[in-house]
Amino acid sequence: MQNEPIDDRMAMDEAAAATKKPGVLVIVAGLVTSAATMALSAVIAWNTEFDPMGLYIMFIFPAGALIVGLAAGSGYGLMSWKTGAKIGGGILAVVVLLQIATYWMSWSIDYRMAKPYFEQEMSFFEYYDTVTRGIAFEKEGGDGYGEPLGAWGYGIRALEVLGFIGGGLIAPILLWNVPYCETCRLYMKRKTVTFLPLGVDVKAAKKLQKNKPGDEDMRANAEQMLEGNAAVVNNLMRLAETGDVDDVQGILKANGLSSKEAGKITSRVQVDAVRCKCCRAGHMELKEVTGQGDKTSTEKLGEYPMTAEQLQRLTA
Ligand SMILES: [Zn+2]
Repeated sequence: MQNEPIDDRMAMDEAAAATKKPGVLVIVAGLVTSAATMALSAVIAWNTEFDPMGLYIMFIFPAGALIVGLAAGSGYGLMSWKTGAKIGGGILAVVVLLQIATYWMSWSIDYRMAKPYFEQEMSFFEYYDTVTRGIAFEKEGGDGYGEPLGAWGYGIRALEVLGFIGGGLIAPILLWNVPYCETCRLYMKRKTVTFLPLGVDVKAAKKLQKNKPGDEDMRANAEQMLEGNAAVVNNLMRLAETGDVDDVQGILKANGLSSKEAGKITSRVQVDAVRCKCCRAGHMELKEVTGQGDKTSTEKLGEYPMTAEQLQRLTA
């Protein structure tokens, strides 16, 4: 590629350097956030009445463990995102093992902090067993605690461990779905180019739903509009398949809507340019977005590979 901005070339060099041992950086970053999170949650648990790991929703959903696990494992995701080192099966297995190790490490710290207050000598496992069997839920209204759960306490512990591991996997799983440039080993960026209408005006759709007599003209209009919109989108998909960017752009220019305009119709097609910030190649992605505000649903319609030059023209 010619005329590359200098900072892109630097990014390329940096990326190349990072790919030599990217997995190590990801692991180190995860260990740092794990240590920081465990230290912070130990401080909170020892200085307040609140144990972050002990927060449950409806008695069985280990919300606290999930959140603490997410914070502990956030470094894996953040460093993967930053360096472009993809978290594959191998690193993922290491992350799971390290989450388990972190969980036990936090208990061993807890044991050491509790030791000076023991009435009698206890080994680590005796301590863990005693605390686990002694788990009791707070009574409704906050007046004291119920009976200790005994052996059932281990059920709670199992949920806690699962929550903690699950929390640590949230960031890697989110990254799993982010488009990735295999050539440059970097996550790609998404930019919405425009929207195409697919449905009809929300207000018109609401009126038509009432099925009142006399709105035949309006219904015919709406149906015609739906057909026209579908034809435009089908045409766009056909042209994108052939890789003719000028024709694709022609359709987008003639029919494109702003996000505000697009939000006023029942459904639309979101046209995204997804590209690597290093080599600039990538793809155009089409998604059908249905509904309004926070009640929208999205369905991917297609992905069309494009060169750097094609994407440049598409977003121009
Ligand atoms: Zn690339």
